[in-house]
Amino acid sequence: MDIDQFPKSVEIFEVGPRDGLQPEPVFVPTEKKIELVDRLTDAGCPRIEVTSFVHPKWVPQMADAKEVIAGIRQKPGVVYSALIPNLRGLELAIAAGLSEVVTIMSTSESHNMKNLNMTRQQSLEQVREINRVARENGVRVRSYIATVFGCPIEGAMDPQIALDTALRLEEYGSYEISLGDTTGMANPISAYRIPKMIREKLTKARLAVHYHKYHGMEFANNLASLEAGITIFDGAAGGLGGCPYAPGAKGNCQTEILVEMFHRMGIQTGIDEEKIRETGAFAQTLSTLLHQKCQ
Ligand code: MG
Repeated sequence: MDIDQFPKSVEIFEVGPRDGLQPEPVFVPTEKKIELVDRLTDAGCPRIEVTSFVHPKWVPQMADAKEVIAGIRQKPGVVYSALIPNLRGLELAIAAGLSEVVTIMSTSESHNMKNLNMTRQQSLEQVREINRVARENGVRVRSYIATVFGCPIEGAMDPQIALDTALRLEEYGSYEISLGDTTGMANPISAYRIPKMIREKLTKARLAVHYHKYHGMEFANNLASLEAGITIFDGAAGGLGGCPYAPGAKGNCQTEILVEMFHRMGIQTGIDEEKIRETGAFAQTLSTLLHQKCQ
């Protein structure tokens, strides 16, 4: 895409409260999580992934999912969502009053097994069921595909697997698919080619990208995806995160820098730059992981 054809605005999907905090080894108090979400709302974030309804045995950090959702100030027009690993998670999300849930599976069989304890086929069947029940309850499903740009266990991944997975998820009813660079293995060429190829094949589902830190390359990757026609970008305030089941995974792309990059380019996000910068700084105070490893 020529730079003169860049869109006037893009959509930022904030994942900090869930994807950012999930791997934190020290429990972040529920009221701090609520404060983070409220600050993101105040900063103008249009969509926020608040928490995860995963069993506390697997992710103890998200054990307070219900309390966090009950405690946040929900602003009309803002979409609050939660990651759900299965139908039980969906039930809990519906009971909590959410209108959007998020699923995840990998392109890599090994990562899928390690992260979700299921084969890819089992994951696909599960997402199909989740979509069926969600649809009956008027809930929208956003689906992540992880390890699209490379897997820490299997190495380079065939983009055809990501495409086939995306088409299946679309067929099942997921209204949006986010391509995850789980451990920061993308580069600006793959970040251009893979989303472009998948976007051209999808007929209904929207496509987002989800990059992780790699010494600033994540911003080059987001720019490359913008050039490929992508207009939905995932980020985590403060750049928190890292996958607990992916060795070496670094944090998520830092929302406040992403927002500033777009604004400097004259592309609007609807997010207040100063407020998101303050929120990012606040998010970093909640992290012990950030200070333990070289990000
Ligand atoms: Mg992530």
